[in-house]
Amino acid sequence: RDEVNIISGALELKKKIVSEVMTRLEDVFMLAYDTVLDFETVSEIMKQGYSRIPVYEGACSNIVTVLYIKDLAFVDPDDNTPLQTLCKFYQNPCNFVFEDTTLDVMFKQFKEGIKGHMAFVHRVNSEGEGDPFYETIGLITLEDVIEELIQSEIVDE
Ligand code: ADP
Repeated sequence: RDEVNIISGALELKKKIVSEVMTRLEDVFMLAYDTVLDFETVSEIMKQGYSRIPVYEGACSNIVTVLYIKDLAFVDPDDNTPLQTLCKFYQNPCNFVFEDTTLDVMFKQFKEGIKGHMAFVHRVNSEGEGDPFYETIGLITLEDVIEELIQSEIVDE
């Protein structure tokens, strides 16, 4: 029974792509690179409750790094530390995947060590007159993939 569920769950993963289960960029809680980590900002970060927060520079779609909540452990809100200082110190990398990556491939990549189990989803935008460019459209975590796996198991019950 368990084996059947696991296999059918795995087969479901092959049929779905990351853009179907990702969190869309407009729903992502992010911080601007030039943010100051004052009391208000740190409170807002804690209130949101996410363990990783993308950091963008200029436009929201220009994600440059990720802030891990644990990196805030030694930050005193009274010091008004610039977010930049932490970003430069930790230099957490961001991973990108294409929107049409299937969930089984995504799952494998997470297992093989995508740091922080989070990736940004991008696509090639060739709609305009100019040259095609990469466009970031969302965020996917291991949790999103596992949720799909579990959902299909429940449906099969
Ligand atoms: P966390 O550890 O922060 O709870 P998870 O990896 O467990 O994050 O993901 C839970 C859900 O929240 C997923 O759907 C994921 O896409 C989404 N998520 C993760 N980080 C953020 C963020 N900074 N803003 C918005 N959604 C996020």
